[in-house]
Amino acid sequence: MEITEKILEQKFREYNLLYFQSDLPLPRFGLLKSYSICGYFSCAKITGRRRLKRQKIEMSCRFDWEENDFRDVLVHEMIHYYLAYKHIDNELTHGEAFQKMSQDFNQNFGLHITEKVDCSQFKPSPNASRFMFYLFKYLY
Ligand SMILES: [Zn+2]
Repeated sequence: MEITEKILEQKFREYNLLYFQSDLPLPRFGLLKSYSICGYFSCAKITGRRRLKRQKIEMSCRFDWEENDFRDVLVHEMIHYYLAYKHIDNELTHGEAFQKMSQDFNQNFGLHITEKVDCSQFKPSPNASRFMFYLFKYLY
């Protein structure tokens, strides 16, 4: 599956409803041109209990995503978003709160959310440059 910002938004809405009771306001979306980072959540530095600002979810467009991998990575980023939004974990870590929430999701919804994702196992997008892909593999 090739991803676009439109697909990210559609899937975000779907998972927000399924897993987060549509609690999360729509963030901005972006595409990463990376083989090493498959997903990324960011927002303006949060101090105290202020409202989140400039929250953004980015995912790599360099892979031909399997539906399940895509879901697990996007929901992983959404857990970071949720924990920051609720001021449970402003530091976006994989600490206790993240562990607990991802384990609950895995058990209750049959997801496979992990702390780290080995995206070297993912298929590269047919549109991505083969050369860059092999160069990357070689360098890392
Ligand atoms: Zn993470």
